[in-house]
Amino acid sequence: MADRYLHFTGTAPGRFLTRRLGLPQPAHLRRWSPRTPTLDGPVLHLTAGDSTVTEELAALLAATGLDVTERGERATRDDRAERPAGIVLDATAVVTPGGLAGVHAALHPVIRSLAPGGRVVVLGVRPSADDHHQAAAQQALEGFVRSLGKEIGRGATVQLLRIDPEGVAGAESTLRFLLSPRSAYVSGQVIELTAAAPAPVADWAAPLAGRTALVTGAARGIGASVASVLARDGARVICLDVPQARDELARTADALGATALPLDITAPDAAERIAAALPDGLDVLVHNAGITRDRRLANMPADRWAPVLDVNLDSVLRTTDALLAAGTVNRGGRIVATASIAGIAGNNGQTNYAASKAGIIGLVRALAPRAAADHGVTVNAVAPGFIETKMTAAVPLLIREAGRRMNSLGQGGLPVDVAETTAWFAQPASTAVNGQVVRVCGQSLLGA
Ligand code: NAD
Repeated sequence: MADRYLHFTGTAPGRFLTRRLGLPQPAHLRRWSPRTPTLDGPVLHLTAGDSTVTEELAALLAATGLDVTERGERATRDDRAERPAGIVLDATAVVTPGGLAGVHAALHPVIRSLAPGGRVVVLGVRPSADDHHQAAAQQALEGFVRSLGKEIGRGATVQLLRIDPEGVAGAESTLRFLLSPRSAYVSGQVIELTAAAPAPVADWAAPLAGRTALVTGAARGIGASVASVLARDGARVICLDVPQARDELARTADALGATALPLDITAPDAAERIAAALPDGLDVLVHNAGITRDRRLANMPADRWAPVLDVNLDSVLRTTDALLAAGTVNRGGRIVATASIAGIAGNNGQTNYAASKAGIIGLVRALAPRAAADHGVTVNAVAPGFIETKMTAAVPLLIREAGRRMNSLGQGGLPVDVAETTAWFAQPASTAVNGQVVRVCGQSLLGA
């Protein structure tokens, strides 16, 4: 069901009335479209302290084609006139709590001037295990970013991106994503990159050209949108869904020029059948199929528990293990699994679902370093918050309204928001993005 409140607040009388009544005023989010593929305005590059990566970072930002303005720590109040669409603050050199004053000094004068729907990316490094002063300063950035995300408003987003100073080049695909309309519903996230070198990109407009992608649960909802965005980015797509959804699956696949593979992912021979359908292997494997069977634990019979764990977690483990062992996932491959904020915060009536989605997070974190070392494959997860799909349309009205508004952007996300995040993970240039769980939740207050 459409978000009528969001539509109402987008009209002049709606804006007037909701402002007078002190009600939430969610901003209209500008998402990717062929006419608006990038941010509409300059990006300010600021630095706190004596960064060792300034030049490399400046070169990388210049390569994105964005209109970048370099500034030292002491940005002036005149900067307000420029209305930047993005701000990148390099805080990698902040190694003591005293250095945090440089973060304040850099952002305080310019933050008010950020354009509506703007992007703020704070660059940090991994908190040290040996130097507790450095760890305090770098962990402080997390609290800073999460608070700024909650107060910034007007559809703007704020993230903390931890880079490895030895692998700045590996941050390009991530900076391109975070500084674009593709990340409209991603905010308050902490993303940590490895030093892995990125694969070269021939065409950033079609980063998945020549790649083969399989999406499970692709007949409808988020999976259909993932298939569509991967196809937009140049991939050859195989859409998998249960045989009962054969007609809907065929319609979705046909519309994208994709191949339909009717198959229940919990079937014991599912991995063999996938491998047989892909003699040249697979570059992107998206585990999106998922089900709910909600009931409080006291009222939950085993037949509502087992299928949820089987579809959402066991089948992901089984097919991932089998396809990696068989070499079906090519070197340079990408595995993307689907968690949920319920797997982080828990949810009333969802012990089965939340257990399965938390299990996905455990799987991703443990497998990622080994898959990279043994197979040259990355493993990441998207954790959607409230996304407008048939699944959430069935939620009772009051709970649905709470789900929509209880996040920093004051609205639900769209399937395409999850799809864009998946497509960023899937890029050949995203080698440094490994073992990450990125919430696509508008910075939901649940599990914050
Ligand atoms: P959906 O119910 O609209 O679509 C799920 C698809 O998976 C369906 O087409 C279904 O037929 C397919 N599927 C189910 N069991 C399968 C099986 N055994 N084999 C193959 N396909 C199977 O759901 P959605 O809202 O699009 O959710 C997609 C994913 O995102 C799920 O993993 C879900 O848990 C997760 N998620 C959704 C939300 C949300 O707000 N919608 C929030 C968090 C996480």
